Amino acid sequence: MSILILGGTPEADQLAELLRGHGITFTYSLAGVTPNPKPRLYPVHIGGFGGVVGLARYLAQNAVKMVVDATHPFAATMTGNAIAAAAQTNIALLRFERPAWDEPAGANWTHVKTLDDAAKALPPGARAFLSVGSQSMVAFAHQSGVDFISRSIKPPENPFGKIIVAKPPFDVIGEMQLFSKYRITHLVSKNAGGDQTKAKLVAAQRLGIKVIMVERPPDPVAEPARDIVKVMAWIERRLL
Ligand code: NAP
Repeated sequence: MSILILGGTPEADQLAELLRGHGITFTYSLAGVTPNPKPRLYPVHIGGFGGVVGLARYLAQNAVKMVVDATHPFAATMTGNAIAAAAQTNIALLRFERPAWDEPAGANWTHVKTLDDAAKALPPGARAFLSVGSQSMVAFAHQSGVDFISRSIKPPENPFGKIIVAKPPFDVIGEMQLFSKYRITHLVSKNAGGDQTKAKLVAAQRLGIKVIMVERPPDPVAEPARDIVKVMAWIERRLL
């Protein structure tokens, strides 16, 4: 039975390793945006499918019986496409989404709905650390009176301010050193959740740096799975 994992997150990688360990075959797909993806010991589809129509065609042509959408919480287009294509082809779909970060007691977070709102929340004179991904930086490009230091895994197409290219995971000490070096006053982050990039929030709290947190878009799925063990159980039930 053919299984498709829509990946690009650490949890999707964990799921893939679990499936491989159980001898369950599947294909893992990546958008193809990250340069030099790590080698994987299972079939990988790199690049988009061509919207809902392309994905529905792919599912039918490859006799896919189950899809697990384990893409990033902000990858809303892919999630929407998966819902539509699975409905069209009558294929079982499970959305996995890691829990969002909660604001810890004593932290200083401003919660906003969009990247544009995050840009507006930065006061003149701020030195802002942008941790929103290379494709989302554009929302801040025309903000005047703010110094930007941005970090992403690949350089943005239209860079501005200081750019740091680095891959997670990051640790708290390293993040504190970085924020101190650049005299950061504000950290802008998407509420991605997970452990790989959480250290920046701890570092910001320890240094008294304000956090502008872009909250997740409304979840299109009422009850996404929140842990990989539940996803495995869902797959194994259907394989019986
Ligand atoms: P998106 O806006 O939801 O998707 C844009 C297009 O990229 C989709 O329409 C699809 O192309 C293709 N695509 C996305 N995920 C794919 C996958 N796993 N396999 C095959 N094609 C995929 O996504 P995004 O926000 O650009 O993110 C792209 C990828 O990076 C996602 O897989 C996501 O998990 C990962 N990621 C995103 C973020 C973020 O902040 N958004 C952060 C970390 C990692 P077609 O329409 O041609 O099929």
